[in-house]
Amino acid sequence: MKKLLIVIPCYNEEEMLPTTLKTMSELMNNMIADKLVAATSRVHFTDDGSTDKTWSILEKECKKNPLFEASKLSRNFGHQGAILAGMYDNDADMYCTIDADLQDDPRCIIEMVKKIDEGNDIVYGVRKKRDTDTFFKRFTAQAFYKLMSWLGVKVIYNHADFRMMTRRAVEQLKQFPERNLFLRAVVPLVGYKSDMVYYDRTPRTAGETKYPLKKMLAFAWNGISSFSIVPLRLVTIMGFLISFLGACFVLKILLNYNAHGAVSGWASTVTLITLFSGVQMISLGIIGEYIAKIFVEVKGRPLYIVEEKVKNNE
Ligand code: UDP
Ligand code: MG
Repeated sequence: MKKLLIVIPCYNEEEMLPTTLKTMSELMNNMIADKLVAATSRVHFTDDGSTDKTWSILEKECKKNPLFEASKLSRNFGHQGAILAGMYDNDADMYCTIDADLQDDPRCIIEMVKKIDEGNDIVYGVRKKRDTDTFFKRFTAQAFYKLMSWLGVKVIYNHADFRMMTRRAVEQLKQFPERNLFLRAVVPLVGYKSDMVYYDRTPRTAGETKYPLKKMLAFAWNGISSFSIVPLRLVTIMGFLISFLGACFVLKILLNYNAHGAVSGWASTVTLITLFSGVQMISLGIIGEYIAKIFVEVKGRPLYIVEEKVKNNE
């Protein structure tokens, strides 16, 4: 039987924790009793530099309940950092990450374990519909997924960070040394056999969102700029476009000039401005192309991940 570690990032979750602790304890107890996971399985809470009572609650509960363990980060590293700390720093056969607010249905974890047993290495939790979200959140989220796919970044639609991964998938994830880790786009790059489970996302029952609009936008831009060089390429394209328009404009000026004449000095000034804006834009774009190369190189992502090997002499 496999050891499961459920990793839960917590940032100022004192209001939510009592419910979360109870639900998780019951769920883990049931899974162990049903022999779905090993008895050594644990629920791991990562306190992401909370400023409220989160850590003291966790400390107390971990002493009471042998199924719980917790770690505390030195400061607030953000959701992604808290998840990674939980997964990279603790040993298990499979890792599940879920938010502390239980907006993602914890019962799906049972289904995820079954899918891992069927031979999958990554199981993504995918939200069925978004009718519990405000119109604004729904709209911005949808626009974000569309934009990402247009920019050539592969993300799983309506999947946040509720997922299960096997030990070897996590080991491979460690090979991605980038600092701006946008997990939901990196994890699919790990490959292996994967599957999805679907659930309805419920509203937060206690506490408030730790992702206000400003943080959300920063997170989205981080995702785009860490994965796509399309914005840089757009500059080059724009340069060619402006040069072309400039050339057309010059032609028109010359024709007009011959036909009616113009204010002295106007034609030469406008000609120079349009032509040079185009040239400048192209030059910027070319510099951008090289920066894009550096950007990709500097990440040092693995070029391959070997899934399996067969040998005859064994
Ligand atoms: N979280 C964290 N560090 C942060 C912000 C959030 O560990 O800096 C945790 C938070 O405690 C929760 C999860 O990340 O368990 C998701 O946050 P939240 O539910 O507030 O985000 P939303 O669902 O509103 O996008
Ligand atoms: Mg939430």
